[in-house]
Amino acid sequence: MQNHTLLWFRLDLRLADNAALQAALATGLPVLPVFILDDDAAGTWAAGGAARWWLHQSLVALDKDLRARGSRLLFYKGCAAEILPELCRKYHIESAFWNRRYESWAQKRDTEIKKTLKESGVQVESFNGYLLFEPWEIKNASGAPYRVFTPFSKACMAQERETGGGLSAAPEKIVAPEKRPEDHGIDALGLLPHIKWYGEMQNVWLPGESEALRRWRHFLDGGVTFYGENRDLPAEDGVSRLSPHLHWGEMAPARLRYDLAQKSAKEPQNHGRYFAFLRQVLWREFSWHLLYHMPDLPENPLNPAFSRMEWENDAALLQKWQKGMTGYPLVDAGIRQLWRTGWMHNRVRMIAASFLIKDLLIDWRKGQEWFWETLVDADLANNAAGWQWVAGCGADAAPYFRIFNPVLQSKKFDAKGAYIRQYVPELARMPDAHIHAPWEAPQNVLAAAGVVLGRDYPFPVVDHAVARNRALEIYQKRVKGGAA
Ligand SMILES: Cc1cc2nc3c(=O)[nH]c(=O)nc-3n(C[C@H](O)[C@H](O)[C@H](O)COP(=O)(O)OP(=O)(O)OC[C@H]3O[C@@H](n4cnc5c(N)ncnc54)[C@H](O)[C@@H]3O)c2cc1C
Repeated sequence: MQNHTLLWFRLDLRLADNAALQAALATGLPVLPVFILDDDAAGTWAAGGAARWWLHQSLVALDKDLRARGSRLLFYKGCAAEILPELCRKYHIESAFWNRRYESWAQKRDTEIKKTLKESGVQVESFNGYLLFEPWEIKNASGAPYRVFTPFSKACMAQERETGGGLSAAPEKIVAPEKRPEDHGIDALGLLPHIKWYGEMQNVWLPGESEALRRWRHFLDGGVTFYGENRDLPAEDGVSRLSPHLHWGEMAPARLRYDLAQKSAKEPQNHGRYFAFLRQVLWREFSWHLLYHMPDLPENPLNPAFSRMEWENDAALLQKWQKGMTGYPLVDAGIRQLWRTGWMHNRVRMIAASFLIKDLLIDWRKGQEWFWETLVDADLANNAAGWQWVAGCGADAAPYFRIFNPVLQSKKFDAKGAYIRQYVPELARMPDAHIHAPWEAPQNVLAAAGVVLGRDYPFPVVDHAVARNRALEIYQKRVKGGAA
């Protein structure tokens, strides 16, 4: 049998700018491109429902792209630590390549696999295809990981690596093995649910590398210039919506940085505008930096003072929040956008999260869990860092006394209620002045809009002013009492 090289696809579902793929091609051997769904290794953090829908579509797209180049993706379900050595034996694998993952479960597993394969004579190499910088590369003056974003981002910028090194076009051809290897097939992965709840997600998203690059170019040609002005307005098309594409590695962050640098060089007067976007991408780097150095980020508050909070965890209130029935229109709009499309605007993520934690006194980990199940971009680092930031217990978090006022936020960022009208249609006919707090609207206004509170739309589940004071009291107790 001829010798082969193995390419293990993970969170890098793309053919361009893929260092592991380039390394596999450089061997000149026929390539076995492999994907393994290894839920047991991921444990609690195996992909949630919406993410699995995305993954299925993204794998289909990648397989199609590979087939167009004479290759195809091999699908397996099970323990990667058993499947890979078995494949290496069966198909005379000389070398194996992959791009690194940084979750602690993945690091542990991958290190073991590397060791096993090397011991059996396979050359193994891994690359960085997921982040702009390796988490161990960026350190503060005393050699420790950063815990504050601004100095972290400055340290990243000081590295200046916009040269395009490591970027590469998708290959035109990928040599396949003479005989088609056996695999389990994509259906065996069972990624799609039996009940087709993903109808609207299908209308909103097109997973895969081609769409990721198309979306990026479209944003680069237009939206990025006004990102600073529009990024907080959920009704506007003001953000890139690249998060699921970045999460699944359908495009490399290095591509973003390179293209932005090129654009900046041509239009130096707009450098600040483009930097505003890159700075946000650096929050993603920061989250992964935190997760790498503090692997229990999804489980425990980084600030131990908040490890024993007196959460109320009222199950009925949690359910109302999950259904977008809190009576606070902007919160409900966000949660319903999430349920329908698998994504929520960042400003509204912060408001909805703050409402759950501080107005309802529900443990941030329950919100994290819900996002994990419902987001197509559910990302262990960004999700955990986002929730800890809002809860005020993370690194460089919002101060605990910053409690978003869901009505003022709504008036400020969705002034005309366009976003609310889209996702809370029962309030569509409310006038702009009253849509943010319908319970304060006069009866005749509600009647004219066809809204009966308690029937068509709920009364607020809590009074924000009261809830705010209660949260402050509980938080202050923790801060004064420390971790005890
Ligand atoms: C409670 C909470 C949970 C979150 N959970 C996730 C998650 O599971 N997955 C996820 O990708 N993002 C998460 N975020 C961050 C942020 O909301 C999303 O990345 C962003 O809304 C995605 O939309 P976009 O691609 O249009 O972002 P853009 O504004 O266009 O930004 C471009 C990219 O930068 C990165 N980015 C932007 N803002 C942030 C941020 N605050 N933190 C980290 N990275 C950022 C993302 O990769 C994003 O795609 C969370 C934020 C909060 C407050």
